[in-house]
Amino acid sequence: MSNLQTLDKTYIANTYARFPIELAEGSGSLLRDTAGREYIDMGTGIAVNGFGVADAAWVAAVTEQLGRLAHASNLYYTEPCAKLAELLCRRTGMKKAFFGNSGAEANECAIKAARKYSAEKKGPDCHTIVTLENSFHGRTLATLSATGQAHYHELYRPLVPGFAHIAAGDLDALKAIDAEKGAAGVMIECVQGEGGVVPLEPDFVKGLAEYARSRDIPLIVDEVQTGNGRSGALYAYMTYGIRPDIVTTAKGLGGGLPIGACLLGEKVQDVFAPGDHGSTFGGNPAACAGAVSIISRIDDALLAGVRGRSRLIFDALSGAPGIESVTGLGLMIGVKTARPAREIVDRCIENGALFLTAKDRVRLLPALNIPVEQLEKALDILRSACRE
Ligand SMILES: *Cc1c(COP(=O)(O)O)cnc(C)c1O
Repeated sequence: MSNLQTLDKTYIANTYARFPIELAEGSGSLLRDTAGREYIDMGTGIAVNGFGVADAAWVAAVTEQLGRLAHASNLYYTEPCAKLAELLCRRTGMKKAFFGNSGAEANECAIKAARKYSAEKKGPDCHTIVTLENSFHGRTLATLSATGQAHYHELYRPLVPGFAHIAAGDLDALKAIDAEKGAAGVMIECVQGEGGVVPLEPDFVKGLAEYARSRDIPLIVDEVQTGNGRSGALYAYMTYGIRPDIVTTAKGLGGGLPIGACLLGEKVQDVFAPGDHGSTFGGNPAACAGAVSIISRIDDALLAGVRGRSRLIFDALSGAPGIESVTGLGLMIGVKTARPAREIVDRCIENGALFLTAKDRVRLLPALNIPVEQLEKALDILRSACRE
């Protein structure tokens, strides 16, 4: 084992099963390891590096801000976070933004907003947040409790109370929980990412949104992974034709720096007062300057490019030898392979392409602007690994 890998295994907490690759640098959708080997990046640091790595416009925006003011605290006004909030609200129709540093924190904020709204409207007993089985909402204790996958829960009990999980498609289960104890919020991912890249049925999502609206239950859409152009729309809920009350996002929002956002719609825009919630690094000027650069470049032309690349991937993989199914939306795609996904991903690494897995699928999360030639090369590598 190399020095780096020994050092890492000695001193880094044992929470990650890393691939044996030491990444050093890159440019766009090409990454290089410490030995100078090149890989096509089909994972973008799990949907983070939306415009690839070392993207010139993003680097310029961040470094310019670093040279002025990297951090201030939320006791003062700073321009980048106000500009980012305006941009996000204008593009979504949401009314206010709260900034944190991760997807889990964005979801914590959403859960607090929904609980406070419902406690004030319906009383403190109305505190249950309903989420879906097979969902993923984060690793903090509350978002872990929201997550509908039992294997994440083991050995962390007691979980945070006040969460219930229903099967995707089972609107009656939501109605039953609401009738029994009152639902304080409903939280969904339009495409369950960590759950295997599984898009929800549009009719179910519409029915859920209608029911939540009719019962004054805040609807939270977790766009941590699906958001910021990944789905082929700015946010995936737009494709589903619904209007959430709360939208959370992170991952691709920062283009490579840690940032999360919880967007509050009309219903809940005034739920928080000073002191109700906060974050030392939330709204960090450097992270926000980078996010402004990212969001302002996700325009119609870019999104059309995302959808075009998505079609190219579906066409290239659907029905190919060793591939059982292809699911997903935009550039968030899951591939069920005949052989175990991890074996396929290992083989692709040997041939110079970095793919991810999600449950039993190979997962594709390439840059929104990945050059088509590089994309086709990576798909060739994946197809031959599946064919073997
Ligand atoms: C990754 C993810 C999270 C957690 O985000 P972190 O930044 O790792 O805290 C939450 N929800 C969804 C849908 C995600 O994909």
